Amino acid sequence: MNKESKRITIAIDGHSSCGKSTMAKDLARKIGYIYIDSGAMYRCCTLFAMREGLIAPDGTIDEASFQNRMSEIQVTFKLNAESGRPDTYLNGQCVEQEIRTMEVSSHVSPVAALPFVRAAMTAQQQAMGKEGGIVMDGRDIGTAVFPDAEMKIFVTASDEIRAQRRFDELKAKGQEANFDEVLANLRERDRIDSTRSVAPLRKADDALVLDNSHMTIEEQNEWLLDRFHELTK
Ligand code: C5P
Repeated sequence: MNKESKRITIAIDGHSSCGKSTMAKDLARKIGYIYIDSGAMYRCCTLFAMREGLIAPDGTIDEASFQNRMSEIQVTFKLNAESGRPDTYLNGQCVEQEIRTMEVSSHVSPVAALPFVRAAMTAQQQAMGKEGGIVMDGRDIGTAVFPDAEMKIFVTASDEIRAQRRFDELKAKGQEANFDEVLANLRERDRIDSTRSVAPLRKADDALVLDNSHMTIEEQNEWLLDRFHELTK
């Protein structure tokens, strides 16, 4: 089979709010692949736990009850014809806006560190990607979900630049946002994500690094598309 006809697996990992999903979505659209936002899946688990009273106001998680109810969580994605991008559905309900709030962001990393949550989401992700032709972004895609992915990218940017981008995004959506809080949240998420015992955030040995601190969206998209063409030519 020549490489052109083979639909490969593309793993894009990196720190919080570094523009992974923007570039992953854009690449998937251009090359006709499926895009999966694995972070949205952990956000759905978090929203489910918050709604069901499994996370106390002080952040304590009722792990035993949560584990018993994991099988009730089904995450799916459906293309939004208006935005041209996929929306996230939790058990059939569109939660695209709700999962992006600061409240969900502040609870998601402890939830994503729970081994039973990771096992369930990793299994769903692997099922979604078993045919190839997929671009998935997250923290452990190139290391744990698809360690054999043909293309692996590790994205990063300075903390302040990432916080500014996230802050601007929240403001543009009309959501409450405070720059210092956004900065503290992404640093804390990176810390928890990098130090957890199961599938911590780290660069896969065979991943290419992209620091996009001083790149425009167009430049980073072009860089990524070039890497794809290089690999599949
Ligand atoms: O990508 P996003 O920032 O929306 O991800 C939200 C959180 O989900 C991350 O901070 C991380 O804790 C968790 N996550 C993860 N593994 C992934 C994707 C996201 O642990 N593959």
